[in-house]
Amino acid sequence: MASSTVRAPRIVLLPSAGMGHLAPFGRLAAALSSSDHACDVSLVTFLPTVSSAESAHLDSLFAALPAVRRIDVRLPPLDDAPDLSGADPFYVHYEATRRATPLLLPPLLAAARADALVADISLASVAIPLAREINLPCYVFFTASATMFSFYAYFPTYRDAAGDGDADVPGVGRVPRSSFPQALHDRANLFTQQFLANGRSLPRADGLLVNTFNALEPEAVAALWSGTVVPGFPPVFTVGPLNPVTFLASREQSARGAPADYTAWLDAQPERSVVYVSFGSRKALAPEQLGELAGGLEASGCRFLWVVKGAVVDRDDGADLGELLGEGFLERVQGRGMVTKAWVEQGDVLKHPAVGVFLSHCGWNSLTEAVASGVPVLAWPRFADQRVNAGVVARAGAGAWVEAWSWEGEEGVVKAEEIAETVRSVMADETLRTKAATVRDAAARAMAGGGTSYRSLAELVRRCATVT
Ligand code: UDP
Ligand code: UDP
Repeated sequence: MASSTVRAPRIVLLPSAGMGHLAPFGRLAAALSSSDHACDVSLVTFLPTVSSAESAHLDSLFAALPAVRRIDVRLPPLDDAPDLSGADPFYVHYEATRRATPLLLPPLLAAARADALVADISLASVAIPLAREINLPCYVFFTASATMFSFYAYFPTYRDAAGDGDADVPGVGRVPRSSFPQALHDRANLFTQQFLANGRSLPRADGLLVNTFNALEPEAVAALWSGTVVPGFPPVFTVGPLNPVTFLASREQSARGAPADYTAWLDAQPERSVVYVSFGSRKALAPEQLGELAGGLEASGCRFLWVVKGAVVDRDDGADLGELLGEGFLERVQGRGMVTKAWVEQGDVLKHPAVGVFLSHCGWNSLTEAVASGVPVLAWPRFADQRVNAGVVARAGAGAWVEAWSWEGEEGVVKAEEIAETVRSVMADETLRTKAATVRDAAARAMAGGGTSYRSLAELVRRCATVT
């Protein structure tokens, strides 16, 4: 009788645009190709990228993961499409990818002799039917929280019932209308259309991956798994918080004295004395709010490392720091505050002993990095899924969220005095610090061999493996 052997599965990863999507896909590629899970991994890269940060990230990623195959796909331009003028460049990229995928994906999957496809949530409604046609298992990776995922999966039901108030997600809880991603208030918006189409497609996926761990948001994970949110929902694999990939290239860069020499600066600061401030890779604060934040950090008396963004897309960000932050600011905070417009390796920053609190916009990757490092979050969500994510860290006790603080599109600017007072009080909050350390330990247990996230990823790999 012929003996059967299990071959390492060949998995093709299909990420979407923006660091918030690329970074977790890179981490997933690293985990799947590691000796623990030993998969043969290919990562599709859609070019051109929207931002320089993405191009630099991809180069560093493939340099750090030589076993991961890079499949470059050049996207046809969408510049002349009239319905996209003025839309967010990242959403336009999602749309370009969605339109190009039906032609590009099948030959690519055949050439890679894939056993399974893992597609980004923004491509779900395109990728799932294509994979089905060729009998290829298709998994969808949701790059935000499981709580956001439950809202996402439930949203078509809410919309079909003509819902226009708060959303009560079965088994999970209420998402107030004021916490919806802003774009969803406009039915004609490109993002809304993608959101609904992708949400409707999910029940036909073979499984769903989320970069979270069970102990962080147990209700949402259980409600998704049990079909309480959407009946007949596919299996959910909680695989996080995925570890950041260590980049040799950026180490070399900082050794060469790159503009943001924040590591040396952090090394010189006392333990847990620094507030790390970042609003992610996708949005800039309005100038007036930027000025109040500068005033607040100055008045707090705390040390701070602040990554400032002056434009949505980094390639367009020509303003200099002095101009953005107001005359004399940089001089006044010299020594106590380090401000940069350059990319920082946030995973490393959050692991640095000098960092005491993270003032964050609550992009999910930022939150998973904070949780994994045990750094308490001062949550200031601004946009998209960030309020829902902020609720997750606040409920878990790993963060503090002043819910009245401004949200993009709402009136109101948070004043410097209020920012200063809140920063000081969160920096001094020992209870929060202790709780964040407990959550960090739970995250580490989930990821360690035998932990819930480790087993979840192993189960996914087992399902992808083919017997030959
Ligand atoms: N990031 C970074 N350095 C920066 C800005 C951002 O390393 O200067 C990383 C951050 O660590 C996270 C990702 O970029 O992994 C941003 O994703 P997130 O989901 O937090 O927010 P988004 O940028 O998508 O709003
Ligand atoms: N998202 C989605 N479909 C899309 C684009 C985004 O489901 O076509 C999700 C995304 O994973 C996140 C939320 O919607 O949960 C907001 O995404 P966005 O891209 O605006 O922010 P990001 O995650 O990049 O910070």
